[in-house]
Amino acid sequence: MISLQPISNPCRFHMRPNEPLKKPSKASPIHCLLQYNRKPQLAGETPRVVVITSGKGGVGKTTTTANIGLSIARLGFSVVAIDADVGLRNLDLLLGLENRVNYTVVEVLNGDCRLDQALVRDKRWSNFELLCISKPRSKLLLGFGGKALIWVVEALKNRAEGSPDFILIDCPAGIDAGFITAITPANEAVLVTTPDITSLRDADRVTGLLECDGIRDIKMLVNRVRTDMIKGEDMMSVLDVQEMLGLPLLGMIPEDSEVIRSTNRGYPLVLNKPPALAGLALEQAAWRLVEQDSMQAVMVEEEPKKGGFFSFF
Ligand code: ADP
Ligand code: MG
Repeated sequence: MISLQPISNPCRFHMRPNEPLKKPSKASPIHCLLQYNRKPQLAGETPRVVVITSGKGGVGKTTTTANIGLSIARLGFSVVAIDADVGLRNLDLLLGLENRVNYTVVEVLNGDCRLDQALVRDKRWSNFELLCISKPRSKLLLGFGGKALIWVVEALKNRAEGSPDFILIDCPAGIDAGFITAITPANEAVLVTTPDITSLRDADRVTGLLECDGIRDIKMLVNRVRTDMIKGEDMMSVLDVQEMLGLPLLGMIPEDSEVIRSTNRGYPLVLNKPPALAGLALEQAAWRLVEQDSMQAVMVEEEPKKGGFFSFF
């Protein structure tokens, strides 16, 4: 059981495990964005088994799993991230852990290694571990399905060192066997969508399938939001997306070239110093996930027009 000590530093993004706490300057924009000056309260029963899914590919599931997973670990909770995207796995790449994956779940099930040998502990945050289902480009074991993943989750719960607080499952795209396998052990879901009609249609279909599977706690994360396009009415607003999907909003992540840079460097965005805007948004989404909280999408008011009588002052 982890202790829930309040932390006095709202600027957590600069913290490393042994770094002294620094007070953020009042003028910094980060200070305005982060009002949290305490450690989040872990809601719900542990382990929280959360599947990160979308239907459509390339909308940001793996980015979300890596960054939210590391953020939760930095908040002091233990996390195991399972890469269930068999054949096209890339969570290890985003985390910069690709050279450390020697064994996968397939070898564990074959009896070639123990489960703890397949778990890759992050160098930076020791309470974050990665577990891959299979080697890249390999085909899934015949018969590997939801039951096998439930076995993996149960084995993680019963580890000698104790159950993790969070098990995050990075789901493959589509709604076929890989998707069904990935959602089977989950009791909650984060549905990642971008504000475009194809992604929304897939997200809506996936919501129905998750509900059929008994997953009622579904929150959506709207990724790659561009305020300039929303203002120009070339992109749906987050409010529109929420009205269409009718799901609680975990967060909205702006389109940010830093995400692509961090993907290519294998260095998760939330570890960046200074933090990028998308990194801050992901960190806040992680906070809400821990507390089972959601946010409200609001209409952004038009900026007041300049040039009136009082503009002189
Ligand atoms: P998925 O797992 O859903 O297929 P990924 O997480 O692999 O999607 O992301 C697909 C691509 O989109 C990656 O190249 C990633 O860097 C990029 N991407 C994701 N989110 C953002 C964002 N907010 N801004 C810019 N690029 C993004
Ligand atoms: Mg992916």
